[in-house]
Amino acid sequence: MAEFTGTVIDFDYKGRGITKKDGVAVFLNGGIIGDEVKYEITKQKKNWYEGKIIKILKESNFRKKSPCKYSKKCGGCDFLELPYEIQKEWKRKSVLQQMKRIAKLELDIEEVISSSQLTHYRNHMQFQVKNGRIGLYGKNSKDLVEIESCLMQSENSNRVLQILKHWKKIRHLDLIGIRSNEKDEIMLILVSKQKLPKLNDILPLLLDAHVVSIYENINSSKKYHYSRSFTKIFGKDQLEEKLLDLQYELSPNSFYQVNRRATEQLYKKAFELLQPSKDDILYDLYCGIGTISLSAAPKVKEVIGVEIIPEAIENARNNAIKNGIENVRFMAGSAEEIIPRLWEEENILPDCIILDPPRAGLDRTLIEFFRQNPVKKILYISCNSATQARDLTFWRDTYHVEEIIGVDLFPNTVHVETIVLMSRE
Ligand code: SAH
Repeated sequence: MAEFTGTVIDFDYKGRGITKKDGVAVFLNGGIIGDEVKYEITKQKKNWYEGKIIKILKESNFRKKSPCKYSKKCGGCDFLELPYEIQKEWKRKSVLQQMKRIAKLELDIEEVISSSQLTHYRNHMQFQVKNGRIGLYGKNSKDLVEIESCLMQSENSNRVLQILKHWKKIRHLDLIGIRSNEKDEIMLILVSKQKLPKLNDILPLLLDAHVVSIYENINSSKKYHYSRSFTKIFGKDQLEEKLLDLQYELSPNSFYQVNRRATEQLYKKAFELLQPSKDDILYDLYCGIGTISLSAAPKVKEVIGVEIIPEAIENARNNAIKNGIENVRFMAGSAEEIIPRLWEEENILPDCIILDPPRAGLDRTLIEFFRQNPVKKILYISCNSATQARDLTFWRDTYHVEEIIGVDLFPNTVHVETIVLMSRE
């Protein structure tokens, strides 16, 4: 097979190194900016190629030794061989480029806000189980990379992983979810196609590793990690958590940001940008377990939080009670249905909105609603600046983008969280 040489000049959104062959982009299975590599072409399309690195001829000056022994193969992290400052600068530029290319915005973006923890920051991980082996998917592949412990999760999470690895009934599982709280207590989610075998033989060990809650999740679909069918088989119904001095409960299927310390930074920055006032009605759309709503509540007159997962709304309501916060109202349902209804049936329009949708971005109905009914300020938080930039284009004539800030919720990966502050034109 023909071999080529090239220099890695950039990363793509999956963290793959990019080089060029006769002006055409080649996406490589690794490599960091500045590496000179020998590669072969593995896939040929009209406007791009995919390639596999055969050898690194000269290492980039940026390169550092990875702290993780799996990083060459494991798909969990992308940037373990890249110093942190360079990761952050790449993320800043990548958001800048998306905003320029897609939303046609010419704003500059400050340095991305750092995560105080670069490892052990993940409070939720999912491990694949194949034929009794536990691991993570490989880089851009569905091949299992067997893992003994992961540098990104907590100490007790790794203890739990070890226990399960040596469990003789592990073959019955397809996936393991491990969630940890700030006290490093563990909620364990065991996913399988059929009912689980008894856990009696490992339960004492799990308890010793601070497992406080175990759920069974029966899932025959390959499409989703967890199905909607959670059954508690041991311990507490919820995991208790603390964020910005407030107490929370969270259910196994409730979303919660994976990096709690960086999330505190994110929220602080969000409120600093939005500067809500005491007379404001604030909407927190895509509110999860109500963390933004409850943190913002003391700053405004009233918050309405909307979230599609009913269990998360149940958590949110309990969280309001737990913290003695009364000026919040949580509604279960899709934001695009509930917001027009609040207007039609109760005549409520907010002064400010915080949006924090999943990677796919906002529903067009919702965008249209706030185009027709413009509010004073919108603060749009996203983990996908491409869909975020796309959504901004629909609001170009209604809102002015004031500021864009990147927050590093996901160190050592290509991902970055972006906050965009907009005000009514
Ligand atoms: N703001 C929260 C959660 C953000 S994640 C936090 O900071 O923790 C996005 C959330 O949007 C998830 O909880 C997801 O269940 C919810 N969601 C997805 N589609 C939705 C929709 N159409 N309407 C309302 N919520 C939705």
